[in-house]
Amino acid sequence: MAVYHGPVCRLCRREGKKLFLKGKRCSSAKCAIERKRKRPGELGKGYMRKETDYGRHLREKQRVKRMYRLTEHQFRNCFERASRKKGVTGEELLRELELRLDNVIYRTGLGRSRMEARQLVTHGHFMVNNRRVDIPSYVLGVADIITPRKSKVPARIEDALLMKVTPPRWISFDRKSLKIEIADLPRRDDVQEEIEERLIVELYSK
Ligand code: SF4
Repeated sequence: MAVYHGPVCRLCRREGKKLFLKGKRCSSAKCAIERKRKRPGELGKGYMRKETDYGRHLREKQRVKRMYRLTEHQFRNCFERASRKKGVTGEELLRELELRLDNVIYRTGLGRSRMEARQLVTHGHFMVNNRRVDIPSYVLGVADIITPRKSKVPARIEDALLMKVTPPRWISFDRKSLKIEIADLPRRDDVQEEIEERLIVELYSK
């Protein structure tokens, strides 16, 4: 499936929920979800559409996939890896998604959105355990250390830091040196967004 390059707010409107894809704007009154009441292409119809059971499962998968900015193929691969693990598949899936390098950069607050975090990674701004890594899907593990590649970080990282995001429990972050360490594995209750991972597991298991 091709990568979506259209307006990202449209994705939120399609899901009827905020996916937080635009950083600061997402928490402001300018957010399209705050301003617009209809899904794309639903002009004149009601906002809520009757949904089938399959539709509900599909929408949840689409929503989470879009939130983490993955293609269908990438998301499916994450699911396959999660389903081969010993734990509960839904929780393993969320752990896989959370431990991606681009997500860790976003959660730490070095990127204002996952999209920006991904771009920072692909542009080679970070090292993992002293080696340059420019793969956003790189899956981190406990005790991995992420550091900026150059002492002078790009202005957009400095801008993002002004937002003073508090990293989750499992990430240890030194704001001075910008050193990130994966202190623990993320648990289910570390993911604050409303996600019904059970629906995704059921969809892929059909
Ligand atoms: Fe979604 Fe953010 Fe756009 Fe709001 S501003 S619609 S949360 S991407």
